[in-house]
Amino acid sequence: MKLKKTKTITIVLLLLLVTFAPAIAEDTPATKLLKARTAEFDTEIIKVTDNIYTAIGYSVSAVSMVIGTDGIIIIDTGMDTISAKEVLADFRKITTKPVKAIILTHSHGDHTGGIPVFSADTNPQIWACENFGSETEPLAKAGLTIQNKRGARQGGFMLPPEKRINNGVAKAYWPKRGGDVFKTAKNLKPTNTFNALRKKMNIAGVNIELVAIDGETTDALYVWLPDHKTLFAGDNFYKSWPNLYAIRGTMYRDILAWADSVDQMLNESPEFLVPGHTRPVIGKTKINDMMTDYRDAIRFVFDKTIEGMNKGLTPNELVEYVKLPERFANKDYLREYYGNTQWAVRQIFNAYLGWFDGNPTNLFPLLPKDEAQRIAQLAGGKGNLLSQARQAIQTADYQWAAQLADYLITLEPDASEPKLIKATALEHLAENILTATGRNYYLTCVQELRNAAGKTQANDKQKTSKQTQE
Ligand SMILES: [Zn+2]
Repeated sequence: MKLKKTKTITIVLLLLLVTFAPAIAEDTPATKLLKARTAEFDTEIIKVTDNIYTAIGYSVSAVSMVIGTDGIIIIDTGMDTISAKEVLADFRKITTKPVKAIILTHSHGDHTGGIPVFSADTNPQIWACENFGSETEPLAKAGLTIQNKRGARQGGFMLPPEKRINNGVAKAYWPKRGGDVFKTAKNLKPTNTFNALRKKMNIAGVNIELVAIDGETTDALYVWLPDHKTLFAGDNFYKSWPNLYAIRGTMYRDILAWADSVDQMLNESPEFLVPGHTRPVIGKTKINDMMTDYRDAIRFVFDKTIEGMNKGLTPNELVEYVKLPERFANKDYLREYYGNTQWAVRQIFNAYLGWFDGNPTNLFPLLPKDEAQRIAQLAGGKGNLLSQARQAIQTADYQWAAQLADYLITLEPDASEPKLIKATALEHLAENILTATGRNYYLTCVQELRNAAGKTQANDKQKTSKQTQE
């Protein structure tokens, strides 16, 4: 009887929570901006300059074609074979010359998955850096696999279409759509590599320079066509605050080297710029302004973080200390659509000083369960802690609500309400973050939490009916 009463109260409270929780705003400033961003990925073959075309919005990355005397050169191939076929079909409306070479700016799957389509008929040379694929080696060697699950959350791959806007530098995309995504990249071997800093060559009458650079990956290159004044930047430049740290979990991306790479590209004085993602930029002055800002903004965040670290600030303090100045922050191409400044700051700290924030309290912190018990005690019991969490939702204090819910989940891993509170909190946080990777990560976890809570409720129901029968 007592059990039944508690159950009824819980259900009523849950209903209240659902009924009175602030509604998810359809158009917060963050979602409005992110939605407007989608225009950057409208499907189109863009003529960059004479004999150079870039396919935008077909796949995740840009796929480019350079037309030479007796053949074409493809720069990056997109994520999968389905979109690669669409790109090739549209390139074929411009020229029927055979594919002489493919150049890969780096080894990430969103740039390499379409290779089978572009190499099918002519067995072209496939050019890349000598250490192609080196970025994922340490993780594979260590036997790490969790980055795949986190990557799917970051990419929003488990979300229904209406929950995804875009991924910040590309339109929403689902690997399950098919087209051998990720599979081809794993078995892929470039046919031609170079180990010099700069490789000059001529393919199909086109003078090409491949320049090895560091940044997003250690196996990156940019492609410089001196006669066309055109530069293909790969993922060391696109229109967004760069993903200096990917929340799926990555080894340190050398941020200083990244800024230096942008500087090096700038020194080529390009008049046409094709980023690894987002639409091409045309015009020397425009490119110069954008790349100068990009380089300087990255360097600013790095230097300011080091300055704060030298003052003894911890990562949690540094994210408040390092603020991108207005002259950078108000530029659309530096907005945090894809990467996030705070995550870069934390990663710089971690790369140079490791996990210990310098505060001795944190050398051996309480275990989560011990801390949660003490917090509950401090709140005057678990019930009060729960009320505080509910109240935090009502007052739109969502980060706090999520943190309180975490204590409750630690204390009662089988209870459904803390999970539902956390899900509501994360859903609101998602609507208020511009960074698409963070938004996707939040919303995927909302889904996971609601599923888990549903299962818990189903288990409770089963238990209750069993007890009633008994
Ligand atoms: Zn990419």
